[in-house]
Amino acid sequence: MARITLSNLAHSYMKNPTSDKDYALRKLNHEWEDGAAYALLGPSGCGKSTLLNIISGIITPSEGRILFNDDDVTFKDTGDRNIAQVFQFPVVYDTMTVKQNLEFPLKNRGADAKYIAQRVASIARSIQVEDIMHKKAQGLSADEKQKISLGRGMVREDVNAILLDEPLTVIDPHMKWELRTQLKALHKELKHTMIFVTHDQTEALTFADKVVLMKDGEVIQIGTPEELFEKPAHTFVGYFIGSPGMNVLDVQIQGNIARLKNDTIKLNHIYQDTNKKLELGIRPEFIELCEDGEGIKIDIQRIEDLAHHKIVRAMYDGKKINIIVEEDTKITSTMSSMKFNMDKVNIYADSWIYEGEVIL
Ligand code: ADP
Ligand code: MG
Repeated sequence: MARITLSNLAHSYMKNPTSDKDYALRKLNHEWEDGAAYALLGPSGCGKSTLLNIISGIITPSEGRILFNDDDVTFKDTGDRNIAQVFQFPVVYDTMTVKQNLEFPLKNRGADAKYIAQRVASIARSIQVEDIMHKKAQGLSADEKQKISLGRGMVREDVNAILLDEPLTVIDPHMKWELRTQLKALHKELKHTMIFVTHDQTEALTFADKVVLMKDGEVIQIGTPEELFEKPAHTFVGYFIGSPGMNVLDVQIQGNIARLKNDTIKLNHIYQDTNKKLELGIRPEFIELCEDGEGIKIDIQRIEDLAHHKIVRAMYDGKKINIIVEEDTKITSTMSSMKFNMDKVNIYADSWIYEGEVIL
């Protein structure tokens, strides 16, 4: 197992990159702690696979260094990095049985037969393939094959890291949850450094100790699921995490007084004047619907009833506002105003979080 250090790492698929736009991965310094479970999250095309493939050695970065503990592996082949990698689509040996496929990485390393039998049985249990152990991989469904790929990725206990690139894409929806749970259990038991790439926030937030959120080749925020939810470092994180995402409103601020269209509210902090564009971010969970006269008047458009809560869709200052209310809340015709939980308000300057000073 290893701590993985990325030092001034960047990658462009072009020969002569000139601007930031030419980089699939913009300059990045980061240390992946030994034994932590990370999710690498972001929309399609943001550079997740590029970063993962640099860590695994499939791609040599155009700039910077990668260290596994103190060992510089930047120019080492994948085979010399002692990692396991699971891809989006199954990689199995069709002519081998399921059991032989699972045994392969251990046999290849010369493990003893008794250990192999034990370890393979335990992995087969966690990925639920015990009843097909003697079938040839050839005849299996894509879903079953991918479970075998996952099993092969997890079977060795002595790897530096396990890297998974959207491994649940072809898995049946009801099995996804189960496999994610198994992956998490396996991580708890073996404490491998794990990096799990996904574009699905639920997958990321339920799997990871820490989430690395990317956009346009850039790492925007690294934090626990709670940190990304409570204090998005960028309005993009606010939109991307949460369902619906964070509400963002134009605001003007003087000291601790925030002016929204025609309404004025008192913030918990004092903000320095700035020429940057200021915005106020508040999650739908932290807005309360209230009686007119008690808050900021909004124009409610519709109310959606979901299983455990309702979403109020409204407009304010020409912008959409979403509010989450508990399912048993009665919404009357005089309740078309909103109140913010002021502890949960974040301010943004040119889209990046803008910290205020505590009011003494
Ligand atoms: P993600 O995994 O987040 O979907 P990728 O790392 O695959 O993103 O891609 C990041 C960017 O790099 C995209 O703009 C993609 O088109 C580009 N890209 C990926 N692979 C190659 C390649 N082999 N050659 C040129 N451009 C590539
Ligand atoms: Mg990808």
